[in-house]
Amino acid sequence: MSRLQAPSPNRGIYVHIPFCRSRCGYCSFVSQVHRSGNEEGYFDALCAEIREKETFFEKADTIYIGGGTPSAVSPKNLERTVYELKNRYDASSLREFTIEMNPESATREKISFYKSVGVDRFSLGVQSFDNRVLKILGRVHSRREIVRALELFGVEDNLTIDLIWGVTGFRQNISFIDDYPIKHVSTYLLTLEEKTPLFNAGYRVKGDSYVEKEYFMLLEELYKRGFERYEVSNFAKRGFESVHNSAYWETDSVYAGYGVSAASYDTKRRIQNTDSIEDYISSGGRLEYAESVDLKKNSIEKIMLSMRTVKGLKVTGEIREHLDFNKVDSYVKSGKLRMKSETLSFTERGFLIMNYVLSDILF
Ligand code: SF4
Repeated sequence: MSRLQAPSPNRGIYVHIPFCRSRCGYCSFVSQVHRSGNEEGYFDALCAEIREKETFFEKADTIYIGGGTPSAVSPKNLERTVYELKNRYDASSLREFTIEMNPESATREKISFYKSVGVDRFSLGVQSFDNRVLKILGRVHSRREIVRALELFGVEDNLTIDLIWGVTGFRQNISFIDDYPIKHVSTYLLTLEEKTPLFNAGYRVKGDSYVEKEYFMLLEELYKRGFERYEVSNFAKRGFESVHNSAYWETDSVYAGYGVSAASYDTKRRIQNTDSIEDYISSGGRLEYAESVDLKKNSIEKIMLSMRTVKGLKVTGEIREHLDFNKVDSYVKSGKLRMKSETLSFTERGFLIMNYVLSDILF
């Protein structure tokens, strides 16, 4: 049975670890440079949040520890975090437990330790196999460290990697994938927010025609290797689609987020934790803002999230009210959208300009 056919909706837990060896030039995530001694206060607040925050489900289906760089922090602190989670939730039949790692901090000992606390999926932040691109991006690791990290995994491991594409002048050569047991690839087009160091240094993302060419080449390389797209940025060998991430694209799924900047959702409310690491620590993990989700917002969200997936969006009565069908028809005619059995989805060409099309067809 495919992992995605398991019972739905999913009840997922996300934990944010905001520490990294250094800051990448394009980064707009909530994270800070890790120094010995600056993680203890954070983990005290995180564990307090897990212990004290109201929960809205008991049995967890998935856990995802992301960041930041979870592999940069001490296993002891991750161990106490997992201990608190397992005290608060029934994790006896988890369907997936993922941890993010970066090549420079991946070690055999850490991987064994993660497995010992239940991790069964590893997400490695490769980004590029080209040292020149890694340098532009300000990544702290080199190709040599990527190879060393990839060699720590065996064929039985469920390994996913992140890749960034659209970096000026460099085509992603992904043939290295053939040498390692990689089951899943997440690909992100380089985007630069103002105030990021790379933006301030005058770097600008490449124009549309370059991006389009590289995009189709990347798709071809992934398809050739047996990866199938199931979401705008995600490709998997059959049966290795991420259960946790798939839940974010289903508005019926609930999730509990812990740590700075994490969000929780119980289908009626969205609760957002503070984005400030200092405030998060000083409040003992208690600074959060709740926002109720109204019906209109919920429908629009459902459209946006479902349209990210290859499966697409079932166009029911309630959804119809939010779509401009004249525009939908014209995108279908121009080959950006497809409508089949009352289900609307993006074509490969359409995914490339997904955000633009969505803002155009939504009321
Ligand atoms: S590793 Fe990720 S979170 Fe950390 S600085 Fe780089 S992009 Fe940001």
